[in-house]
Parts: sequence; C-alpha cells; structure tokens
Amino acid sequence: AKQGGRNTYRFFNQQMNINNQKYMKVSADLRRAITNQEFVLHYQPQYHILTKKIVGLEALIRWQDPYIGMRSPAEFISIAEENGLIVPIGSWVISEACKDAKKWLDSGLDFGRVAVNCSAAQFRLHDIEQDIIFALTHSGLPARYLELELTESILLQKVDDVLGTLIRLKNYGIHLSIDDFGTGYSSLAYLQQFRVDKLKIDQSFIRGITEQLDHLAIVQAIIQLAHGMNLSAIAEGVESEAVLEILKDLGCDEIQGYLFSRPLPAGKVIEFLQRPPVM
Ligand code: C2E
Ligand code: CA
Ligand code: CA
Ligand code: CA
Repeated sequence: AKQGGRNTYRFFNQQMNINNQKYMKVSADLRRAITNQEFVLHYQPQYHILTKKIVGLEALIRWQDPYIGMRSPAEFISIAEENGLIVPIGSWVISEACKDAKKWLDSGLDFGRVAVNCSAAQFRLHDIEQDIIFALTHSGLPARYLELELTESILLQKVDDVLGTLIRLKNYGIHLSIDDFGTGYSSLAYLQQFRVDKLKIDQSFIRGITEQLDHLAIVQAIIQLAHGMNLSAIAEGVESEAVLEILKDLGCDEIQGYLFSRPLPAGKVIEFLQRPPVM
C-alpha cells in the first residue's frame, strides 16, 4: 500500500509538472500573441425565437497562432484569467467589438447589440469601466448597442464596487446578461441585487432537453424565473429543430446556435447582415 501511495504521489507530481509546463508555454505564447496582435473576433448571431430577427452578435475570440494555427478560447482563456493576461486581451476585445459594431451601424445594418464576454479578473485586477468608456468614446458607438455577458463569478466577487460599476454601466444604457446561467453558484439572491436584463441558459442544459426530463425541468425553471423577474431568456447551443420547438413551447425569447449560424469571421458579418439566410 505504501509503495502504491508513493507511485501515486510520483504520478501526481509528474502530472503537475506537465500541467505547469503547459501553463508556462501557453503563457509565453500569449504574451507574444498580445504583442503581435494575433487575435481576431468572430461573431455569432442571436435571434428572436419567433420573428427570427437578429437581436445580437456575440463576440468570440480566436487566436491565429502563426506556428500552431487556430487556437480555441477553451485552451487559453482560463490560463489568461489565471496569469492576468485576460486584462489586456479583454480590453482589446471590448475596443475591437465596439469598432466593428460602429462599422455595421454606419453601414445602416440592424444587428441589435454586440455582446462581449467578460471575465471576473477584468473586474478584480482592473477597472473594466474605464476600458468600456474608452472603447465607446473612441469608436463612437452609442452605449445602447453594447451588451456585456457576465459570469456568475463576477456577481459573487467580494470586490468593492462590482455592484456600483454595473449600476453605472447600466445607466449609460449598456445591457447586461448573465452567461452560462445555472452552471455557477446556487445563490439566486444576486438576481435581486444586480439589475441584469437577460439570462443566458448554458448549452449543457439545452443539449439534452429532448431526451432528459431533468434538463427540460431546469430550462423551464430558468425561463419562468427570467420572466417572473421581467428579464428575457436566451438559449445557446441550439443545434436542432426539435430543440427549437421545445424552446418555443417553453416561451424562450431568443436563441443562438449552429442551427442558425456558426460564429462568423468579422469580415463576413456585413455580407451576412445584408442577406440573412432564409429560415
Ligand atoms: P460561451 O460564452 O458559453 O460561448 C458559447 C460557445 O459555444 C462558443 O464557443 C460558441 O462557438 C459555441 N457554440 C455556439 N453555438 C453552438 C452550438 O450550437 N453547438 C455547440 N456545440 N457549440 C456552440 P467558443 O467560441 O469556443 O468559446 C468558448 C468559451 O470561451 C465561451 O463560452 C466563453 O466563455 C469564452 N470566450 C470566448 N471569447 C471570449 C472573450 O472574448 N472573452 C472571454 N472572457 N471569454 C471568451
Ligand atoms: Ca458567452
Ligand atoms: Ca462563458
Ligand atoms: Ca456557455
């Protein structure tokens, strides 16, 4: 047993070394990527469930690594959150998304809002409000065209003034939604405290909705909760007509997913908005 324990320990140590090496390598690559501006934004349309009108475009970061190729956010966002590089990366995302949205607006296109993902570290290590004001002022995009997708971890942070910051952002006219709703923490008290506009139901609940009754129950409860609090509900990860039909029956307001569109490279958005696909 002792021997086994020691082996387990050694294995654990090796695993930690591998993880640590990966962390160091990705961190170094990220520093280079920031300097060389290797990031781009893709945008995924969000639709009104009944009219099929585009109500928003979610900005999703992509990394064009010249050595490795396209790297997905799943690989680097959590590392960037850990080492703090999400602060400069996140500032870039906000300003780039505002610039793109201003271009669409100037082209006379109706895209609803541009939705930007935010990390807790952007509030904890940095003054995200400054970034947002700067990006809006610099781009000339009116605040009402911007939406922030916040994680539950942002709302639960014991940081001085997250509440104050969010109230000010809302007063500028920025929309707020809670991303990955239901996957974070069980406390619902913050829903009363923070005046958000929308709950975004995580795709882990949406996917199983046709087969698993417990998923259906959760999605139904989230939609009822949203409506009871005068918020709207959006489902992400909608991949099939069957799922869409259930969401309609449940009264879900908006949808996003591969059934309608994958995330589009920024350069394809104008063309897409000019000729939306027939559905
Ligand atoms: P998320 O915010 O939950 O975004 C939804 C993810 O689901 C995106 O993955 C999107 O491409 C994918 N998706 C959309 N529709 C479907 C569908 O029908 N089926 C399936 N299977 N997937 C779908 P992506 O772009 O790889 O982003 C992953 C996560 O990385 C995001 O999850 C978000 O948490 C984070 N992320 C992406 N961009 C940013 C960013 O600019 N800042 C921050 N802080 N996080 C970001
Ligand atoms: Ca999101
Ligand atoms: Ca997320
Ligand atoms: Ca999600």
